Amino acid sequence: MAYKISEDCISCGACESECPNQAISEGSSTYVINPDKCTECVGAHDSSKCAEVCPVDACQPDPARKETKEALLARYKKLHP
Ligand code: SF4
Ligand code: SF4
Repeated sequence: MAYKISEDCISCGACESECPNQAISEGSSTYVINPDKCTECVGAHDSSKCAEVCPVDACQPDPARKETKEALLARYKKLHP
């Protein structure tokens, strides 16, 4: 499932450069994740980098976007042909 950034985000920017898919950008009040680019880091890393570096634990899996590992890997391959 794609990750999302909660209102706890303090816009430190640490997560943006960690994303292997350039899925993270600065939004109006918090940083935001484009769910069409988030692969939970599948294809690039063993764990979700944004969640690892976030100092306030604002990057969380979005339960509304459950996806299989195969679907996430397919997305990663499409993003990185
Ligand atoms: S989980 Fe990985 S792919 Fe998804 S937004 Fe975070 S760093 Fe990017
Ligand atoms: S690392 Fe966390 S607090 Fe910093 S911009 Fe990303 S989501 Fe926001």
